[in-house]
Amino acid sequence: MNLPKLAIAALGGTVSMQPRSAGEGVIPTVSGETLLASVPELKSLAQVTVETLCLLPSASLDFECLLSVLSWAKYQVAQGAEGVVITQGTDTLEETASFFDYLWDHDVPLILTGAMRSAQQAGADGPANLLDACRVALNPNSRQRGVQVVMNGQVHHASSVRKTDSLAVHAFSSPIFGPAALLVEGHVHYLRSPVLRNVLPLPQQTLHKVAMLEASLSADTLIVENILKLGYDGLVIAGFGAGHVSEKWTTVIETIAGKIPVIIATRTGSGSTAQASYGFVGSEMDLIRKGAHMAGFLCPRKARILLWLLIGCQRQDEVTSYLE
Ligand code: ASP
Repeated sequence: MNLPKLAIAALGGTVSMQPRSAGEGVIPTVSGETLLASVPELKSLAQVTVETLCLLPSASLDFECLLSVLSWAKYQVAQGAEGVVITQGTDTLEETASFFDYLWDHDVPLILTGAMRSAQQAGADGPANLLDACRVALNPNSRQRGVQVVMNGQVHHASSVRKTDSLAVHAFSSPIFGPAALLVEGHVHYLRSPVLRNVLPLPQQTLHKVAMLEASLSADTLIVENILKLGYDGLVIAGFGAGHVSEKWTTVIETIAGKIPVIIATRTGSGSTAQASYGFVGSEMDLIRKGAHMAGFLCPRKARILLWLLIGCQRQDEVTSYLE
């Protein structure tokens, strides 16, 4: 039988972690080949190629590295891969998924997965997640859905997925939207139609910087006042509630928004920013009047990814339409 081609890349993270010696903390050392050996069932599903592109904790992945992973993934599609799977750390999975999704212009599924328990821990979830991720990548209904995250028997679209628990096996969810699909007895059941996606060109520049700050009670303005002086090209604020900041921050944000794009998201972890509800100084209506953009349902971290990519391809003037 002619099995479909599936390409897997390992980047590190807990799924690739084990201690060097007993009693030490786990570090990323497990190669893609070893991960693949933990799911022998895959052999009957696809012709698999696997590469270890890096072995990093996901906090240390960066945009340069992600761009080279993206070009590896595109090359696999050009070579006939019908599905691409990337294993990585879960700490930044919600950001890398968005990054890839904004740039993935193929119908072929690009699936990200990881693990909450390292390889030697009892009940390690890495092999199950990897097998599920491959099943999703190979499923014809996964085509034209951009980038999805598979964890703990659920499939989440890149635009909505968030890590909402620090250590639980069920650490991933899509607040408000819910999972796009579930895996039941190895079968992929889609619950939602594909998300409308706006794919961006590759960034022509990569040296620009986008800062992200969280509003907090009685916060001073020292850092926010220095954003322009520090050379940032964009700013994302994780605002209070529906996208609000204090009166003190508002004045500073007005000055900044006149020079670089400023996006206000909500720090609540769920729901959308408002547009036309509150009128006090520092409210969404006031901030929009002062030149800021509201993130809508995009969480602050995903808004920062979007803004960095928009600046990279000189589309920052279109930020409002990308946030809609
Ligand atoms: N705890 C993390 C993980 O799940 C470490 C990382 O993000 O690399 O992989």
